[in-house]
This record gives sequence, C-alpha cells and structure tokens, in this order.
Amino acid sequence: MRKKQRKRTADRATRHEQSAPVSNLYRPASALDVLQWPVIGRFLRWRQGRLVLQSLLLLAAVLLVVDGLTGPQSAARNLATVAPWVHFRGLVVLILLLAGNLFCMACPFALPRTLGKRFSRGRNFPRVLRNKWLAIASLFTLFLLYEWLDLWASPWLTAWLIIAYFVASFLLEAAFRESAFCKYLCPLGSFNFVYATSAPTQIGVKDAEMCRHCVGHECVNGSYATSPLLRLDDIPGGQVEVRHGPQGTPGCGTSLFAPQIRSNLDCTLCLDCVRACPHDNIGLMARRPGRELLQPGAWPQRFDVSILVILLAAMGLTNAFGMVSPVYALQESLAETFNLRNELIILLLVFGITSLLLPTLLVLLAAQLGRLLSGSLRKHNLRSTVAAFAPSFVPFGLGVWIAHYTFHLLLAPFSFIPVLQEFLGQNGDWARFGTSLDQTLIGLVQLVAIAGGLVWSLLIAQRVATRMYRLDAVPGMLPWALLLLAIAFIAVWIFSQPMEMRGSILFS
Ligand code: SF4
Ligand code: SF4
Repeated sequence: MRKKQRKRTADRATRHEQSAPVSNLYRPASALDVLQWPVIGRFLRWRQGRLVLQSLLLLAAVLLVVDGLTGPQSAARNLATVAPWVHFRGLVVLILLLAGNLFCMACPFALPRTLGKRFSRGRNFPRVLRNKWLAIASLFTLFLLYEWLDLWASPWLTAWLIIAYFVASFLLEAAFRESAFCKYLCPLGSFNFVYATSAPTQIGVKDAEMCRHCVGHECVNGSYATSPLLRLDDIPGGQVEVRHGPQGTPGCGTSLFAPQIRSNLDCTLCLDCVRACPHDNIGLMARRPGRELLQPGAWPQRFDVSILVILLAAMGLTNAFGMVSPVYALQESLAETFNLRNELIILLLVFGITSLLLPTLLVLLAAQLGRLLSGSLRKHNLRSTVAAFAPSFVPFGLGVWIAHYTFHLLLAPFSFIPVLQEFLGQNGDWARFGTSLDQTLIGLVQLVAIAGGLVWSLLIAQRVATRMYRLDAVPGMLPWALLLLAIAFIAVWIFSQPMEMRGSILFS
C-alpha cells in the first residue's frame, strides 16, 4: 500500500516536472502579501484556518437545511430562501470584486469532498471532460431550474438543492483524483473563478529564483506522505531540510503550479500550496484589480474558457430578464407560435436561445467582423480572437450580477435577523430589521454597477484591439464595442422595468 502511494506521488511529480519546466516563471508585481498581515495573515496561514471558516459555513448550511425542510414554507420567513437568495448572492459578488474568491476558500461543500478523498484516491477525470463545457452546462441547468421550479420561493426545494450539492461534491471527489467537482462541474465555483479575475489579490511566489532550485514542487505535488521522508534541498541561501509525512499538506487540488500562476481562474484560495511549500515562498499578493484581464497570455486560449466567461455575462442578463414582465410576454408568444404547453420546454427555448445560442453567435460574428475590418484574417484565427476579447466581458458581466443581486440585498439588508429570531422561536422584529433601503439609491447603485462595468470592459477591449491590430485597432474593436454597448443598453432596459416577481413576492 505504502509502496503504491509513494509510486503515485512520484508519478505525479514526474508528470508535473515534465509538463512544467521551471522556466517561464511568473511573480505578481507586488510586494504586498496579505498573508503577512498581523491577524488575518496569521489566521489564513494557520493549518486549521480554512477548516474554521468551512465549519462556520457548514453550520449555516445545516441551519438552512433544517429550516428549509421543517420550517414555514414562506420564502420571506425561512432561512433557506432568505439567506442564499437574498444575502449570500449579494455579498458574494461584492466580495469577489473587493477581495477575491473568499467563498471557495470557506466552501462547506469541500468538507465532504475531503472525506471522499479519504475513502478513495480515485481515478483521473476523463480527458474529454477536462474543460469548462460541463461547467457551462451546470450553470445553465442551475439557472433553468431556478426559473422553472421557482427556487427562490421554495425553502423545501432550496434545502434539497443544498443537500444535492453536498452529495455531488462527495461522490465526485471520491471517484476522481483531483478536485474534479470544483474545477470542472461546480456552478458556484465556476462563477467565482470567472469573477475573481477582477479581484485585487492573487496567489503568487515571492522569489521565482527559489522555484528554479526547488526539487519537490510541493505547491502542486503536496508534502503529504504515508511515512516520514527527509530531503535536503540546495536553494539560494543554503541547504534546507524538507520533510514529508502524514502531517503534510496535499498539493493544489486544481493542479495549478504556483510559480506559473497568472490568473485567479481555477484557484479556490484553499491555500494548500502556501502550507505545502517547504520554502515559505508563496503569498496572497495584492495586485491592481483585474490586472490579469489586461495581460496577454494570462488565460488559456481555449474556446471553452472564453465561452464560459462570455455566456456568464449573458446569463446575468437573462437571469435578470426572468424577473420582469416582458419575459411572460415572450413565453406566451413562443407558446402560441409553436403550440407548446410544457413550461420547461418553453423556458428551455427562452433561456437556451438568449443565454447560449444568441450570445455565442454574436461573439463569433464580432470576432469575424473584427478580423475582417482590421485586415487580420490570416494573422489571428477565430479562437485566439475570441480568447483575446473574452476578458473584456468580465467587468460588464460582474456589473450586471452586482446590479441584480444587490437589488435583492438592499431591498432587505437585515431581514435575516427577524427570520433567524423566528427560527429560534422568538418574535421576529420585522418593524426594525425588515425595512428596505431607498429605491432611488438602489437604482443608483445598479446604474453605477452597469456603467462602471461597461467602461471597464470597453477599456479592456480597446487595449486588446490596440495590441492585436495596431493601426487598425479602431475598426478591429468596432464590432466588440457595439456588442458591449448593445448589451449594456439591454441591461439598462431590463433594470428599468418594475421587478415583479422575486423582489415583491419575497417581501410583500
Ligand atoms: S514548492 Fe514553493 S519553492 Fe517549490 S516550486 Fe512551489 S512555490 Fe516554488
Ligand atoms: S493550492 Fe491551488 S487552488 Fe489552493 S490556493 Fe494554491 S493555487 Fe489556489
């Protein structure tokens, strides 16, 4: 058994060393390491720090499930609906922008995952699924279920959704070797990965030279071994003892190699790499917000990654569109035109066309037109053009999600207090904590989020066009600018409609 374990570790290390030469190392241009901050930094570096955060969210998840299954089935008075659909979502989008992927760091769904890994080492995730197509499908399915089953209005179904999450995470992590659930399937994780690219922090190494001399690459291979091992590493500054053993830490679950990390994509901020590195060479570096969005080569040039980013922005619009009355008119007209009676089929048509088909076609059209107008048909292929402009959809997409989710959050920012009071058997103080913020202020926040996202997106698109097309940047950027302006116009139109369903039902 031990022999097998050692062979696996050696295989993995060898595989990694072959695939990741220690050239091409990267260090974020920052001297500010959040992990060196007095209290927060120490807590985050602490071996049990993540477990404490996860345990708190696990406790919250248990409360939601209990209230969802046994409490009042009124959306406005049940923790299972108020906490995730009103507060959690609003806070997550703001935290992603201001701090980074803190939700994945504290994710309680990763706890059964760790348990799953104890039961089985698992096998490799199928090569054909090692991309973001599954994540796109799971995101679309979640949003479709949300519309079809009115998840925001059902504490019972929301509780079952949380349970299903735990079960899926456990099964996938038990079945496969790497963190397959987080990396390839989890819709929440995929959302967080994409919008954490706008964050002001990123995992990075402090001294790239150290990594050139590092033997074990523990940041990705881990320092865990079933029996103690001792190694002497020659690094700049002298020899260092490196110990592996049962107290060691696993390497990066999503197979990121710290000295080559240039993006927050796929980083769950678990900080395992920080704890595994024997040379204390990894930090959570501060950076200019969204720095990677302007860096060529920071993202892989893959259709699945680019399309995920672009479709998430589109899903932001269609998810908000599901709240306003024109969606009913569209549903009715589709039902009449095609003589459809099944609501799921109608919703599948509405959201399949508006979230998947139309945005993909428009983006391919913009890329083709940009290549044509800039005279670069031979120089840049369709895939690399879409990949280059995909980052420009991050700020706008995030702006739309912020506009939507902060709407719910600001309508009842403290409503979780009376709901919690009632859960604990007391009278809920609705008069004090159930009030909404001023509607004009909420509208202003939404406008700032959309306009700010649009301006940031246009700036990125302009930089990309200048880099790719040089003197022909203006015609090359034109289709992308028009596309971004058009969807911004649609966003303003959607958010200027009276928000009928979720906002009013939940708090009427
Ligand atoms: S374990 Fe540390 S020193 Fe070694 S490659 Fe990773 S970050 Fe660099
Ligand atoms: S181990 Fe991987 S996922 Fe975790 S913080 Fe480090 S780079 Fe990110």
